[in-house]
Amino acid sequence: MQNGTIYLVGAGPGDPDLLTLRAARLIERAPLIVHDGLVDPAILALARPDARLVSVAKQRARHTLPQEDINALLVREAKAGRDVVRLKGGDPFVFGRGGEEMEAAQAEGVRVEVVPGISAANGAAAAAGIALTHRESASVVSFVAGQCKGLSEQNWAGLAGMGRTLVIYMGVKTAPQIAEKLMADGLAPDMPLAVVENACRPEMRVLRGPLAALPDLVEAEAVKSPALIIIGEVTAREDLALAQIVTEAAQ
Ligand code: SAH
Repeated sequence: MQNGTIYLVGAGPGDPDLLTLRAARLIERAPLIVHDGLVDPAILALARPDARLVSVAKQRARHTLPQEDINALLVREAKAGRDVVRLKGGDPFVFGRGGEEMEAAQAEGVRVEVVPGISAANGAAAAAGIALTHRESASVVSFVAGQCKGLSEQNWAGLAGMGRTLVIYMGVKTAPQIAEKLMADGLAPDMPLAVVENACRPEMRVLRGPLAALPDLVEAEAVKSPALIIIGEVTAREDLALAQIVTEAAQ
């Protein structure tokens, strides 16, 4: 029997309109979709009525299916001759563990196709009117993970500051350590930032403040995952207010 193909598909930040055409077509015809918790229900609703949907998301009493088990599930289904759509929030290769799934498939000789998605940083920036590399404010943009082993040992020096934009994924829980770390690296306490919660979803919130106030902002506003922290001058440009009015009007 011929192996099926594993499609590692980026589902974007939430709004189904932000899927690529390729992603939408694959979702619509897939007999089996293995998805994680960040994938919006409105996107899963595009699946065939008879499609099998398998969630590997974190549930209250249960932990996320370990990555090895997800890899094994994908390979097992493909080897049974079935095409599998592995649907992931944002882009599969931006903090999405898509690399491990691709390698697991390749090691077993299973064909993999990667379909890029709009990463949360791009979605949040567009929806909040924050031009990540505005010509007058930044010529560098970096994406970092705020929650991973050894946060304090990670070297972020030089990634944030004048002329640079830093986008932090998974940083809600570790916001106090992040603010402390960046200021210890020499970043000004009044460096402006924005927190974008639930970007590209109806319940999106954009909160702003100086770096030193990040922990208080997150606590006072009860910011919940998924959220991004965007640090840099681009979050405080004067033309921002206008951009937001335009974004709101378009909704
Ligand atoms: N592969 C994904 C990232 C997965 S890591 C991507 O490319 O976007 C999960 C983190 O992504 C979350 O903790 C959050 O920081 C961010 N994220 C994902 N979707 C988001 C959204 N709609 N709004 C804000 N942040 C989001």
